[in-house]
Amino acid sequence: VAAAPSCYLDYMRNLLAWLFSALLLSGPLAAAQPSPVARYDLQVKANLAKKLLRVQGTVAFAVDERERDSVDVVVHKTMGRPTFHLLSPKQAHPMVKEVSANDGQTTYRFIFGRRLDSHQAVRISFLCQGGALPAAQFFLDSTYCMAGGYNVAWYPQVLARQPDNTTTTLEGTGTIRVITARPFTPVIMGALARQTARGEQQTTEFVLRTPAVFTLFVGRYTRTDYPGGPVPTAAYRLTQDTATAGYLRNCARVIGALAEEFGPYPFASFNILEYPEEVANKLNIGGSSEYAGITLPTASFGNRFNYALYGHELAHQWWAVTVGSAGSKGTGILGEGMAQFGSLQVVKRFDPAHAEQYRRTGYPGYIKDQSGLGFLTQSASGNDVALQNVGSAQAHSIGDSKGFLVLELLSETIGKERMKAALHIITTKYRDQPLTWEAFLAEIQRAAGQDLNWFYEQWLNQTGAPDWTLTWQPRAGQVALTVDQQAPYYRLQLEAEFRGTHGETARRTVEVAGATTHLEVPIPFEVKQVQLDPEFKVLHWDEEYRLRARALAPAAGVKYLRLAGKATEALALGEAALAKLPQPDPYGAEFALCYELGRLQAGRATADAALREEAMAYYLRAIRCPVRDPEALASAYLRLAQLAHAKGDLTLFVWAKNGALTADMLTSYTVGAAKQLQNLPQPKTTR
Ligand SMILES: [Zn+2]
Repeated sequence: VAAAPSCYLDYMRNLLAWLFSALLLSGPLAAAQPSPVARYDLQVKANLAKKLLRVQGTVAFAVDERERDSVDVVVHKTMGRPTFHLLSPKQAHPMVKEVSANDGQTTYRFIFGRRLDSHQAVRISFLCQGGALPAAQFFLDSTYCMAGGYNVAWYPQVLARQPDNTTTTLEGTGTIRVITARPFTPVIMGALARQTARGEQQTTEFVLRTPAVFTLFVGRYTRTDYPGGPVPTAAYRLTQDTATAGYLRNCARVIGALAEEFGPYPFASFNILEYPEEVANKLNIGGSSEYAGITLPTASFGNRFNYALYGHELAHQWWAVTVGSAGSKGTGILGEGMAQFGSLQVVKRFDPAHAEQYRRTGYPGYIKDQSGLGFLTQSASGNDVALQNVGSAQAHSIGDSKGFLVLELLSETIGKERMKAALHIITTKYRDQPLTWEAFLAEIQRAAGQDLNWFYEQWLNQTGAPDWTLTWQPRAGQVALTVDQQAPYYRLQLEAEFRGTHGETARRTVEVAGATTHLEVPIPFEVKQVQLDPEFKVLHWDEEYRLRARALAPAAGVKYLRLAGKATEALALGEAALAKLPQPDPYGAEFALCYELGRLQAGRATADAALREEAMAYYLRAIRCPVRDPEALASAYLRLAQLAHAKGDLTLFVWAKNGALTADMLTSYTVGAAKQLQNLPQPKTTR
């Protein structure tokens, strides 16, 4: 979906943070150790016309205990074969051993002639150039350059060695001078920048004081500053439109709100950076939260400001970008779940009318699976895990569905102010050391001032959700309620809503626990209807959601397998489910399955015309279904149009394009189909 929050980099970041934690937590003085940092002095020549990136300079760092004999420096092979000089310690003929990896990252191992002292300073100079080979988060053509440091070492990156022999990239500070031709502006978010021009060339000097893995963007950027935010806020845009001011203003408001929830914004500036749609498509990156800012592809700027999406991505500035998670438990909740919790706080504050819908079935224009119903569907498909076991693989499916709803319930249970206090402490304390699940829970319990084991046990340590049935009977002046729970039994505080025969309403809070709870509630009017948890503040099964979740579970299973990279299993599951579709199909099971199968085959179809045909056939079948999810329908038309365009089938392209535009209009343009289609080159007419 166009408006999908990307979090593409989350996985890598969590992985790095996790690896890093192993080092920090190994010694008795672990918590007090400052993170080691590499200091850079870089000169970068970004020659877009020649599609050449040239990087030279020095890096200095102190060796850790495990690097006294040798140290590893990584450069991606797209940057060519670097030349190195070991400047310090002086050594006549330093030995450098080269090891290439499958992902294109080449490791250069500097073997020292003698064992260095612990924390001895090492300084290396280097020169490398390239940029022609494809790489995961790297793009360079005559109009644009994106060099994402996380998976592509476009500059030499020093590795820190862990006790278990795994490695992690040392973050860097220092100075980076970038030379570009006049119309191009380089951007490194969060850095102080100063520009000097000489003739057709200009030099931009960046000073980085906060340790980071450097990501460089070069394009024909226009910078717009917004002075009214809690920190200096700027947008780097490639397109001239009227969206910038509104986005900056709204982002500044969201940052202010999140700072109240989580503590002061962690960076000296906040930036929104646009990158070309072509880069998004080619690298399959829908946007990201980075040091001191977020990046979004061009098409996102056409859409209405989406509070859930921006709330989520901006909350990542605290959770994942600043506070890294560590250990083997709950890492998917500490990064993803907390970002989504932040997103819900933003929606409650700026768009409260949609907060209940967000909890129940998803925020409009945002990923529908990231909701209560999304979790129940996932659970019905058999892919549920307890929140304490949610790692990177389930971070989005469970962390962004059950995860944020349970964090919200935790906040309601202990009181919002206590939750805020705990989160402020955590973001301060764990800025320079990774956060473990155990430490997270302990901080919340401390701020809550009460034993929360019962809550943690039922909500974090087991799968599923409460499943209750309510029966009730009016008595003189009161109503007798009976709540029966399916095992396992939850201890719950629920709102009960009573509606009277003459339009009266009353709300009471009731306590439920164990297999059966009997309650007598005094109500001063004649009651005709009783509802438990009318606003869905507690994630639970209800009859309508149960039927819907069961019907859509096979499609959820296909999606889960697709995202896990298990294409064959996904196809088998989807085809088997299509063979025994429910009749009638009130929840659109056939549509959901065909849509997911279309996505599955389209994702594998890059060089395979037969798979592309299959994908198109699935999308067509989805579009012809009688019951269709409106937003997914607009996406189905859009994806079909894109495939027809790639094939050169002009008739089908025009038909699908018109369908996409109409379906999108009917959902208030949540998919942004027009923007996405306008960036396609003029289709070639076939005979
Ligand atoms: Zn995320």
